[in-house]
Amino acid sequence: MRPAHALIDLDALRHNYQLAKGLSGRRAFAVLKANAYGHGALECAQALADDADAFAVACIEEALELRAAGINQPILLLEGWFEASELPLIVEHQLWSVVHHHRQVQDLLGAQLGAPLHIWLKLDSGMHRVGFEPAEYASTWQQLERSQNVASLTSMTHFSRADEPATGRTEEQLATFKRATQNLNGPTSLCNSPGVLAWPQAHGDWLRPGIMLYGVTPFEFDQDIAARLRPVMQLQSKVIAVRELPTGEPIGYGSRFITQRPTRVGVVAMGYADGYPRHAVDGTPVLVDGQRSQIIGRVSMDMLTLDLTDLPQSGLGSDVLLWGEGLSASEVARHAGTIAYQLFCNLNRVPRRFISSSSSFST
Ligand SMILES: *Cc1c(COP(=O)(O)O)cnc(C)c1O
Repeated sequence: MRPAHALIDLDALRHNYQLAKGLSGRRAFAVLKANAYGHGALECAQALADDADAFAVACIEEALELRAAGINQPILLLEGWFEASELPLIVEHQLWSVVHHHRQVQDLLGAQLGAPLHIWLKLDSGMHRVGFEPAEYASTWQQLERSQNVASLTSMTHFSRADEPATGRTEEQLATFKRATQNLNGPTSLCNSPGVLAWPQAHGDWLRPGIMLYGVTPFEFDQDIAARLRPVMQLQSKVIAVRELPTGEPIGYGSRFITQRPTRVGVVAMGYADGYPRHAVDGTPVLVDGQRSQIIGRVSMDMLTLDLTDLPQSGLGSDVLLWGEGLSASEVARHAGTIAYQLFCNLNRVPRRFISSSSSFST
């Protein structure tokens, strides 16, 4: 079989969730949107079923997949419903929902529902993507509070720069949130991963960690708590061909790389069809048998090429780690002009193999 695969360590996932939750002692979602950031939402939900207070996803399609597989924990729809026709399904499957737009308020107030809904009312505290304006927030809250279709209300907002503590933006957003919600009774939820890790004063009642659950720091700098995260994914493959080239020979499409010395080239079964970034520059790090090597030449659809000249012990059949323990997805992402979030979400074709202290299985 082709050796490319993503090994998913479900014990590490549980460890990271407990780390997040332990920071506040209150409740914490496990954010499983986008197929758990490429890690396999169903398996991740099952692994966290005994630990997580609730799950969060981007849309009802993602929630219904979890329900169909027998996941009974509360699930929050982070953007609510996109069409009013989803409301009966939200009731039937006992989903929790964000409300971020007037249209959703009108849908909810006008609906005939079998049961009232748990609503997370989103404030735009400064990110300016979705949410109600501070000036209209309290009145919208009160409107929903009076509705028979609303079982509970939680106030919620989202930070745009919590990973950049020096900017002052999070303090501004927090102050806006406090002003807009000061006369409202109900639980609060503000923190994504950088909020969880660096903004204890904003923790509120419900944390919403995402990327940190998968063992990746959201920061560009070293941070003590983030250093305790364990990477969940090891993206692995093997060297499937080796060749020796003299100086001055081009490698791969477009001859992007020209050998500067007699070069031993390793070809790896991993390409952009697997989700490895095509934009990875020459010099992008890769581990071969645990040792640092680097990409030379353009990444192609099914293969990429490495410089093995300084790793004479490695060759055909050597183990290759594209990211994981000892080489963070963030470091690779920096060499491809993106972030670890996108590398994970782009994973494609590679089978996932799951390991956990209680079992080991593949999909
Ligand atoms: C995706 C998402 C999160 C998780 O963000 P991370 O940066 O991955 O921790 C939290 N809240 C909302 C509303 C989200 O959409």
